[in-house]
Amino acid sequence: MSQITTAPPTTQTPEELDVVIVGAGYSGIHQLYHYRKKGYSVRVLEAESDLGGAWWWTRYPGARVDSEAPFYQLSIEEVWKDWVWTERFPCRDEVCEYYQHVERTLGVKQNIRFNSRVVSARFSDLLHQWIITTQDGFVIHSRFFVLAIGSASKSYTPPFADIANFKGICIHTASWPKELPVEGKRVAVIGTGASGVQVIQSIGPQVAHLTVFQRTPNYALAMQQRKLDKESQDKSKRLFPVMFRRCRQTPNGFSFDKYPKSLHATTPEERLLFFEDLWTAGGWRFVTNNYMDIFTDQEANDQAYAFWRSKVCERVHDPEMREKLAPTLPPYPFGSKRPSLEINYYDVFNQQNVDLVDLNKCEILKFTPSGIQTADGVDHVFDIIVLATGFHTFTGPYTALKVHAADGTDILEKWADGVYTNLGMTVHGFPNFFYMYGPQSAGSCNGPTCSEVQSDWIVGCISHALSNGFTRVEATREAEIEYRRLILELNERSLSKSSTEPTSFKGDLAQYGRLCREVAEDGYRGFVFSSQVGSRARL
Ligand SMILES: Cc1cc2nc3c(=O)[nH]c(=O)nc-3n(C[C@H](O)[C@H](O)[C@H](O)COP(=O)(O)OP(=O)(O)OC[C@H]3O[C@@H](n4cnc5c(N)ncnc54)[C@H](O)[C@@H]3O)c2cc1C
Repeated sequence: MSQITTAPPTTQTPEELDVVIVGAGYSGIHQLYHYRKKGYSVRVLEAESDLGGAWWWTRYPGARVDSEAPFYQLSIEEVWKDWVWTERFPCRDEVCEYYQHVERTLGVKQNIRFNSRVVSARFSDLLHQWIITTQDGFVIHSRFFVLAIGSASKSYTPPFADIANFKGICIHTASWPKELPVEGKRVAVIGTGASGVQVIQSIGPQVAHLTVFQRTPNYALAMQQRKLDKESQDKSKRLFPVMFRRCRQTPNGFSFDKYPKSLHATTPEERLLFFEDLWTAGGWRFVTNNYMDIFTDQEANDQAYAFWRSKVCERVHDPEMREKLAPTLPPYPFGSKRPSLEINYYDVFNQQNVDLVDLNKCEILKFTPSGIQTADGVDHVFDIIVLATGFHTFTGPYTALKVHAADGTDILEKWADGVYTNLGMTVHGFPNFFYMYGPQSAGSCNGPTCSEVQSDWIVGCISHALSNGFTRVEATREAEIEYRRLILELNERSLSKSSTEPTSFKGDLAQYGRLCREVAEDGYRGFVFSSQVGSRARL
């Protein structure tokens, strides 16, 4: 049993609400909107000082959405009807401006307490309430507790030896300051995942020298960025309601789907033409709209890889560099890791001032006062080291925010021998608690679609409890065991089978949404609803 964090003494009488939501990104705002509409008392606690979710603190150069417009937005009509995107793949500042538009249309800030980092929450089985505490000692009581903290609330820095010895600037992409000039500097970027690709292509043309440390090549796809005009967006809006519905019926949360034909049913010429069309369409189309057996058939997967590789090789001049960025033999199945979208990523590697260290051949030994020493004894000298090393995803966010059951059990203790959840939103032993975008939620898909599928389900479950006079709802242990069994079974069938515990639901979004709907239609199968004698369902 772990220690329960106690708040500093306070004279405040805790507020008692129907629902408390943590996080004011897409997920938290969608939740807030629906509870307000139903007349429930609700409050959002947000760690940062403004709206924007992950985009508020994502300030690294070149930060840009990889999900294309118009899909990367809330499906709430009051919001989309007057909003116009300027680019197909919007930049970070435009997404933050979109959040201000959300405020102008919905006035959500009146229900949000900013600068309120939640540090702990404990369920009281006496009160059937959650007692939630923020870092500044604010305490609030709520019947239901929803975590909408995203998957990137805790950045990850590998345990590099002597990292503190470096005398220059060492910065994680998640904590990029408002001002950090890079022109004329010697810069290292460690990591070639989503943020690594964007930083590299953005600062590559500006810096004096760039060294990229790569562990795994990113199968980055051509973004095919373009400007969007108001007139054509306005015209397409009459189809938005059907488009948002359609997004929930596809594997990845966009309105488009896999091509309903096997690669083997086509000739090599047809295949080439089809691949070229997908490439020109840009974005993730080469993954999401490709032949139906690309992810289930090794031969089909290899052919997609070979086409992608040919596109990279056309761009990169040096044969050695080509082999590092796009190896002849695929290091992992095509599409099994979320590819980034690139604009000039591969061109940067043709510059004389850019080199790449393959960490599989030459490890980072340690950080030194002037830079990084690699296993071959070379001292690389830098002014700035950028850690594009990602986030503690999966259960990582729960190390900073302690969620306790009524008996004091920390949620991480419960998950010590394997993660058990029901539908990737609820946990046995943690009644009236829901989370979004977390362990065992739907996997690789467009963020807003994923979060709205979950948000609607949670709103439905809480409304079912409140309207029927229930003050407590809890997932059964049997339902958790069954859900975990399903995830492991789907993992076994996948080409991109994870050898460790799968972090997300291994089916696609459409399948996940169907399962959630069936559970609700079956009277919330796998959940136990109950009430305290003499208590009111609504607080
Ligand atoms: C750099 C980056 C690029 C991305 N690009 C894409 C993309 O192209 N396409 C896509 O679909 N998805 C992308 N994502 C994923 C993105 O997280 C989702 O699209 C979307 O933002 C999820 O919304 P959310 O509201 O669930 O979480 P978030 O937007 O992450 O919002 C969570 C909120 O919770 C707050 N919070 C966290 N912990 C606490 C706490 N303890 N107390 C109080 N508040 C807390 C945070 O400050 C934040 O405001 C990207 C994420 C990152 C970090």
